[in-house]
Amino acid sequence: MRVQFSNSYIELAQGDITRQQVDAIVNAANSALAGGGGVDGAIHDAAGPSLMQETRRRFPNGCPTGSAVPTSAGKLSAKFVFHAVGPVWRGGQKGEPELLASAYRRCLELAVENQCRSVAFPAISTGVYGYPRDLAAETAIEAIREFFAKLPPSHGGLEVRVVLFDAGSFGAWARVLERLVAPGSHAAAR
Ligand code: ADP
Repeated sequence: MRVQFSNSYIELAQGDITRQQVDAIVNAANSALAGGGGVDGAIHDAAGPSLMQETRRRFPNGCPTGSAVPTSAGKLSAKFVFHAVGPVWRGGQKGEPELLASAYRRCLELAVENQCRSVAFPAISTGVYGYPRDLAAETAIEAIREFFAKLPPSHGGLEVRVVLFDAGSFGAWARVLERLVAPGSHAAAR
């Protein structure tokens, strides 16, 4: 599923994020950038040890929740990995939506700063961090859409692909995206 917002796109894909042909791959990291399971483990495995070496050397203090830091991408075909730290879900009243939105936003800023056209995101915080899938999809899509709206017209636009690991997540995100781009929302689905 692919939806256009002026000259930018959000695309939903099902699969493994490490296989994506994009300029930058986003990792769902922890704030110590210490490595972990889930998508973080898959990205480090596929990229090789240089990813952790660079992360340790350049960001020994980690990365705050709601932000992201860039590294090169080791053996991945992407040019960059953006290590984003989403919030742990604690019931929704501890600033989780703002922190999740700001993690997505920071990655998109890093994409622009590093001349990336295409970025692949996992569903940040929806694994071990327990963020409810539909709420995460809604917050993420709104954050991406707001970012698109603020891009200067001189920018050629971004291709944002959200890569969902399983069919259930893909279906949930597709339903949320369809609802958010329903007639009247100033976007065209195709
Ligand atoms: P978090 O700690 O931010 O919740 P996780 O890695 O536990 O991060 O999970 C985030 C999401 O990434 C989950 O929806 C999980 O199913 C998904 N995921 C795990 N491995 C991959 C992968 N190789 N590609 C894409 N998504 C993945």
